[in-house]
Amino acid sequence: MGKLFVVGIGPGGLQHMTIKARDAINTSDIIVGYSKYLDIIKPLLKNKETFSTGMYKEKERAMKALELSKNKIVSIISTGDSGIYGMAGLILQISENEDIEVIPGVTASSAAASIVGAPLSHDNCNISLSDLLTPYDLIKKRIRLAGEGDFIISLYNPKSNGRPHYLKEAIEIIKEFRSLNTPVAVVKNALRIGEEFRFCNLSTFDDTDVDMSSIVIIGNSNSFMKNNKFITPRGYKLKNV
Ligand code: SAH
Repeated sequence: MGKLFVVGIGPGGLQHMTIKARDAINTSDIIVGYSKYLDIIKPLLKNKETFSTGMYKEKERAMKALELSKNKIVSIISTGDSGIYGMAGLILQISENEDIEVIPGVTASSAAASIVGAPLSHDNCNISLSDLLTPYDLIKKRIRLAGEGDFIISLYNPKSNGRPHYLKEAIEIIKEFRSLNTPVAVVKNALRIGEEFRFCNLSTFDDTDVDMSSIVIIGNSNSFMKNNKFITPRGYKLKNV
């Protein structure tokens, strides 16, 4: 009997992967994933069989992993959390009666937040700006409602060549609901090689260096900067703060 682990490998640095995720990979006969993500965990793949496909081949990858898992132990990997814009949903949607275990991981917003301070300490939401699977009108509606709801917003898939204007448009929508000095953080390659981050606010926001390895976090109406840290208060009554 085989088994399929749907593994969130975390943001990239191997020390940020859970022990459970490592165990799943260690016990697997074969690891399935997008080639760039297999590279991230290369040190764990010595003597392991792998099956990789290019980007946008998620369905093919998912079907292959399910088929292999009928008589082998298989891990299919996603970066960050496997259930947040990852493979878990698709796998469960097309599965029949295979033995499947979903293993969570540190998602990009948590990874990025830890680098810039504590911006997600109150109600927050993730919005992906990718329109490959979601119509752009719906994405804009969600940004508007998240803006109105005063959620801290983490923008995943913020900018790609095919949709260079979405990020600027998202920021314009959020400006309708928040003061112009609301803190914004841009974090690239959080907790992995190539990590960079910078702070700005809604009025000084510039999207030039933002790419698909970046995440953009926009504070709520109470977020502020202190000692170069981006903080959203939980609401505790504190003296002198
Ligand atoms: N399952 C992943 C998200 C996949 S969507 C997770 O839970 O993190 C891909 C998007 O996630 C990227 O375009 C980027 O916006 C974000 N992302 C993933 N890893 C990141 C990292 N280490 N640093 C910054 N952003 C990252």
